Amino acid sequence: MIFFCNRCGANASQRIPEGDNRERAVCDACGTIQYLNPKIVVGCLPVWEDKILLCKRAIEPRRGLWTLPGGFMENGETAAEGAAREAMEEANARVEITDLYTVYSIPHISQVYMMFRARLLDRDVSPGIESLEVKLVTEDEIPWDELAFTMARRTLKHYLEDRKTGNFITRFGDIVPPER
Ligand SMILES: [Zn+2]
Repeated sequence: MIFFCNRCGANASQRIPEGDNRERAVCDACGTIQYLNPKIVVGCLPVWEDKILLCKRAIEPRRGLWTLPGGFMENGETAAEGAAREAMEEANARVEITDLYTVYSIPHISQVYMMFRARLLDRDVSPGIESLEVKLVTEDEIPWDELAFTMARRTLKHYLEDRKTGNFITRFGDIVPPER
């Protein structure tokens, strides 16, 4: 929720602007409308021979659990550039982004994940500031019970399936809150 105008600093009220159909934060003084839209998370599945790069998270949420490198896209970069940047920041990994692989909408937290396949350019990886540990794992070594995020689990499963045939298929899907 937005309470103040980002243009003049006056109070903003939640109301439906003319011609719109959703409540927005509308400035009481200057009328500026502020829109809240989903954030894009970009990441990759970096591969070296038969191994996949995983990172153990040093930050919340899900500190201590494993995931694929990824994070919020920055202004002024492309999705693929962001995915490569995250691999560098989290694992000091130099990657070549090859294909878009999975896209997940997570409506309850208003995020969209875009995960790319990537080729590691060398196997010289080490933890960045947001990782406790990084490692190259074979299929048998993937810590399925210690993965941080559904998107990582699903992306890894698709990858291992597709690798058997050599036919990598881009997929999309939704991630909803776990049932309680
Ligand atoms: Zn204003």
